[in-house]
Amino acid sequence: MRICIGAVLVVAAVFVPSLRILEAQNALEVLQLRPNFYMIAGAGGNIAVQVGEDGVVVVDAGTASKTEAVLAAIKKITARPIRYLIDTSADADHVGGNEAISKAGQTLFVAGGGIGISADFLGGGASILAVENVLRRMSAPTGKTAAFPVEAWPTETFQQPRKYMYLNGEGIEVLYQPAAHTDGDAIVFFRRSDVVVAGDILDTTRFPVIDVARGGSVQGEIAALNRIVDTAIPSVPIVSREEGTLVIPGHGRVCDQLDVVEYRDMVSIIRDRIRDLIKAGMTLEQIKAASPPRGYIRRYGSDTGPWTTNNFVEAVYRSLVQEKR
Ligand SMILES: [Zn+2]
Repeated sequence: MRICIGAVLVVAAVFVPSLRILEAQNALEVLQLRPNFYMIAGAGGNIAVQVGEDGVVVVDAGTASKTEAVLAAIKKITARPIRYLIDTSADADHVGGNEAISKAGQTLFVAGGGIGISADFLGGGASILAVENVLRRMSAPTGKTAAFPVEAWPTETFQQPRKYMYLNGEGIEVLYQPAAHTDGDAIVFFRRSDVVVAGDILDTTRFPVIDVARGGSVQGEIAALNRIVDTAIPSVPIVSREEGTLVIPGHGRVCDQLDVVEYRDMVSIIRDRIRDLIKAGMTLEQIKAASPPRGYIRRYGSDTGPWTTNNFVEAVYRSLVQEKR
């Protein structure tokens, strides 16, 4: 793919989303992105909240320790019941609040209601939707201890490329990305609100976390970013309107399509550099010393914490070497 970085940087600098910060309480920040669409930041991964006559659809649950504050924030937005919780991966900072948020909600599938699944069977709480591999990671084979209690597990899973729903007057597409950040990622696209929830495939605070041990890969990561780029539409040709599709990353600030293009290009350039160094016969240590992420380290790099620049280089290296086999 040919990449035109110069033009992208010029246009991206113009975009400043005009978002209203509703409140900053309990270290949570609630942003209204659309008349019926909100983002809650500060509870682990970013949380998306869509509201309408069917109730509330929540994407990602945040960490377990913040669920009380998250539920209070949702209650302030609307008194309607939470109907669906969609997980973008099985990471603890995205599914940690699953149990509490599901329990606080109310399933659409009431006993005797249209669909005929008993509410008891579903526990009465909001349904939890995720790709099959999220359930696999959160549960455990018989006799082994699961990472999460059964109440936190997805109640509905899928494996096909696209799962869809029509709730609150709009189509909701849940797009399975089989090997990106992990092997269980989903992107959620709200078609009328024109918001894409990217999960940890997009993380504006650091280099993307590619968890090779849990099925992530750099090629899948780039494919997933391309999927977001293809789904979103930027504010062109009238850039000054500052409109266009909004993209909520797993962590960090709200983006538009051009931000995702820039991020995708960054991952692609570093992937190409590491691939060339592997071809030149360098070891992982030599590759790290050659600093393939140069030019991006100040913005996305880190020497400390759970995901350092070296962790990222190593993940891309392992992913490329695995692929060659
Ligand atoms: Zn995360």
